[in-house]
Amino acid sequence: MTMPRQTILVDADDTLWENNIFFEQTIDGFISALEPLGYPRDYVRRILNETERRNIRQHGYGVRSFGRSLEDTYLKLAGNMARRDTLDQIAEMVRALERIPPKILDGVPETLAYLAGRHRLILFSKGEPAEQAGKVERSGLQSFFEAIEIVSEKTSAAYSRAVDQFRIVKAAGWMIGNSPRSDINPALDAGLNAVFIPHPDTWELEHSEVHSGIGKLVIVQSFRDLRQHF
Ligand SMILES: [Mg+2]
Repeated sequence: MTMPRQTILVDADDTLWENNIFFEQTIDGFISALEPLGYPRDYVRRILNETERRNIRQHGYGVRSFGRSLEDTYLKLAGNMARRDTLDQIAEMVRALERIPPKILDGVPETLAYLAGRHRLILFSKGEPAEQAGKVERSGLQSFFEAIEIVSEKTSAAYSRAVDQFRIVKAAGWMIGNSPRSDINPALDAGLNAVFIPHPDTWELEHSEVHSGIGKLVIVQSFRDLRQHF
């Protein structure tokens, strides 16, 4: 028995390609660069997380907002000890992060090809529109998707807007992603079904308990396993 055609929203970062590991590497380098200030590493990380939360509310997600958070954190911790060459070093770390080519996760292209032959796929990602669109283009995965939708925050209201915009029948609508906070819980709250694909390096700010909703919740271990459900 084949499954009737579904509409599947698919997350991008850490679902289709690696993302957070590169940010974590940059953060490691950043914290090392701040060692001369004498703060414990986990303290620097805590200040950075707080700064990121604040900057995301004001400036959204993305590499530029992240770069601003690194700089703000450094300036806060260094005070009047702040040095121009360290600021330059931080700016160079952010440029290096931007230059990293996409690293597609295992099994993604062939599984997308399988899914796109049977269902309607929409890429649903949050972040800075130009930056995310650039990543989609460089990934070579664009053609599997009927639409690319980039929003500033994936709230349940954002999912409800997508449901209206793409005329999704909720019972036949799914969200697939690695983040309980951005992909699973708000999609279930909006009445969609969801597939959670945990990624071991999911960003701390995305951590949350998965909760249940009206729709179905499926948990799989890898993108490849989606074949068994669709
Ligand atoms: Mg993600």
